[in-house]
Amino acid sequence: MAFYANVIIDISHEKLDRTFQYRIPEKLCAQIYPGVQVEVPFGNGNRRIRGFVVEVTDRAEFDVGRIKDIGSVVTDAVAIEAQLIALAAFMRTNYGGTMNQALKTVIPVKHKTKQREKRTLKLVMEREAAARQLDVFVQKHNTARARLLKELLLYPSLSYEVVTQKLNISPAVIRALEERQILKVEKETDYRNPIAYAKAGVSRIRMNGEQEKAVEAVRFDMQNGNCGTYLLHGVTGSGKTEVYMELIAEVLSAGRQAIMLIPEIALTYQTVMRFYGRFGSRVSVMNSRLSAGERYDQFLRAKNGEIDIMIGPRSALFTPFSNLGLIIIDEEHEGSYKSETLPKYHARETAIARAKLCSASVVLGSATPSVESYYKALSGDYRLLEMKMRAARQPLPVCHVVDLREELKSGNRSVLSVKLQNLIEMRLAKKQQVLLFLNRRGMSGFVSCRACGHVIKCPHCDVSLSLHKAAKRAGEPALPGKLVCHYCGYSKAAPPKCPECGSVYISGFKAGTQRIEEIVKKRFPSARALRMDLDTTRGKDGYEKILSAFANQEADILIGTQMIVKGHDFPNVTLVGILAADLSLYASDYRAAERTFQLLTQAAGRAGRGCEPGEVVIQTYNPSHYSIRAAKMQDYEAFYKEEISMRTLLKYPPAAHMALLAISSASQDAAADAAGRVSGWLHRIRAPGLRIIGPADATVAKVNDLYRKVIYLKHEAYDVLVAIKDKVEQFAVSAEKQQISIAFDFNPMNGM
Ligand code: ADP
Ligand code: ZN
Ligand code: ZN
Repeated sequence: MAFYANVIIDISHEKLDRTFQYRIPEKLCAQIYPGVQVEVPFGNGNRRIRGFVVEVTDRAEFDVGRIKDIGSVVTDAVAIEAQLIALAAFMRTNYGGTMNQALKTVIPVKHKTKQREKRTLKLVMEREAAARQLDVFVQKHNTARARLLKELLLYPSLSYEVVTQKLNISPAVIRALEERQILKVEKETDYRNPIAYAKAGVSRIRMNGEQEKAVEAVRFDMQNGNCGTYLLHGVTGSGKTEVYMELIAEVLSAGRQAIMLIPEIALTYQTVMRFYGRFGSRVSVMNSRLSAGERYDQFLRAKNGEIDIMIGPRSALFTPFSNLGLIIIDEEHEGSYKSETLPKYHARETAIARAKLCSASVVLGSATPSVESYYKALSGDYRLLEMKMRAARQPLPVCHVVDLREELKSGNRSVLSVKLQNLIEMRLAKKQQVLLFLNRRGMSGFVSCRACGHVIKCPHCDVSLSLHKAAKRAGEPALPGKLVCHYCGYSKAAPPKCPECGSVYISGFKAGTQRIEEIVKKRFPSARALRMDLDTTRGKDGYEKILSAFANQEADILIGTQMIVKGHDFPNVTLVGILAADLSLYASDYRAAERTFQLLTQAAGRAGRGCEPGEVVIQTYNPSHYSIRAAKMQDYEAFYKEEISMRTLLKYPPAAHMALLAISSASQDAAADAAGRVSGWLHRIRAPGLRIIGPADATVAKVNDLYRKVIYLKHEAYDVLVAIKDKVEQFAVSAEKQQISIAFDFNPMNGM
């Protein structure tokens, strides 16, 4: 059997799909795989040029007689591209999609960098006068001006973007300080670093015993040439960032480079400045606001050795460092590490794959590790490092759980429990701030009883059923809706009464942030409330405006969804109220309990970060659920134990693997027909141990006029699912001609 290699000659994003096919000579067979650099005869004159193998195949793409042989394997040059192409091949194999999609993910788009004007704030007032001015601002309660001036006294040169985006200072405040000749805005066209910094005398923190131990474990392995994957499980505020920085310093001193992934929302001003303070201009920070050109510019600087540390979201993983020694993934449990476009890779597994290619170490950090990672840590795949104390010895917040069923019984029908109302009142009196978090995650119309908290679940899948409203025909009374399981397609009519207690207060949960804001304003008329949700953050900088107003203490209460609980650091917040903690518990997917535990723990972590201790109120219909009990105690192990036994029983990841097969088409019949055929084929192959669930309508059955069907596959071995994917993808090639698309998502983060 002859084998062929697809080779790219010009490795730029735009030309990635221009591959040329060559035959692999027998003697080179063992040496040719994706990423290998080769010399090939090219064009009419057969001049010898270099290219990279991106794919090996047994299918000839054109007339076999005209396919030329690969000349030789290049061994004298190690190009970083080789590593990235090999990584793309890993992604293509393990997550599906085409090789071209994978290559486009790892090779950055080459864009001419339009030299964007770079603005820097410089302190121009004399330090002593500025310090006096600061006192004046503080006395006058000019909170925003005071905050900015305080930072300028610490770092006399600050990037405009960092100040507006991370410190949440509005342009109006900057202008006001400029008019008073306190600062000046400098424009530079020589665009080097996205963040101007001044290596102020940032004093180094002395690590505590737990931090030392964690650093030492990894350092010992590194110095002995061993590299592995570590899970750093440290409670909120245990000082993980300090550990990361110490390890980065270690790697740098060995002449190697480091990548740190961090969810953008968690990359706070404090964190950015800590890295700049310690590593200066060797650090580059990537964010989603960078233009493609700026992003490319940063990658180029990494390739040219001008920087050694890249901090950024998921895509920073592909920074072309030639001697990468360490990859850190902070908040490793975050859903944003999973790509939502093809290939649907997970940054954690992909980071581990990249680290293997270049003998680097991987450190995963979290206060609430993903169940997958903790499972691997316990089974010895990763090494577990633990930090159980807050670094500066602050106590963890005190957590109260309020049973909403009891509230209703005692006559309180407000969404604010009596306990929460009392605590809010106390905070308002003390001029401290309050966060009210409406947990709306996974609100895909589950149905619950307001009297007893009962939620109607699928008898086969242990996920909540979703309410589908029946179409109303003109002149006829509305029909009760139908309850549907999105995993297996099971359905039944929505009951008029609670099957547990007979109450008629059974319905889909509706209260949104706007409704809560009205309730809060009515109950606390003198309090200043702000609301942060998709509506209020829509405009340009809407997000920053609200955060900066809250940071400047222009409001007492901030009401919002997920976006208010992650990463933000408001030292004056001493109370966090979690309204309807259960909502995320009944999302119709198997990660619901995990996500609930994480959200509650994170939300609780927002309270009491300053000098005053914090309190948390968790309102729930389900106080005895293990994710809520564990969140109250901040007890990760207790949560994990319950969760893993449930997953093992039901064969959900990590106890088994799962693949979601999404089939979509503009024609409802075609989608249903294709889903039927794929499912028929899956049943015929009789793979031992394979469980096939569905086909069923996707949670959102129609998106952009495409009808969507889903099939879930479960198997204990990932490889078996990969092999099935390869077969189905061949089937998909012919399906594409009929306008049907079939895409895979392995161990999906969100149900579909
Ligand atoms: P985590 O990332 O684990 O939530 P951080 O690294 O952000 O925690 O640290 C929380 C706070 O504790 C920071 O303000 C940090 O400066 C401080 N901190 C970290 N290590 C120490 C230490 N050894 N001694 C005192 N304070 C520390
Ligand atoms: Zn009931
Ligand atoms: Zn089901």
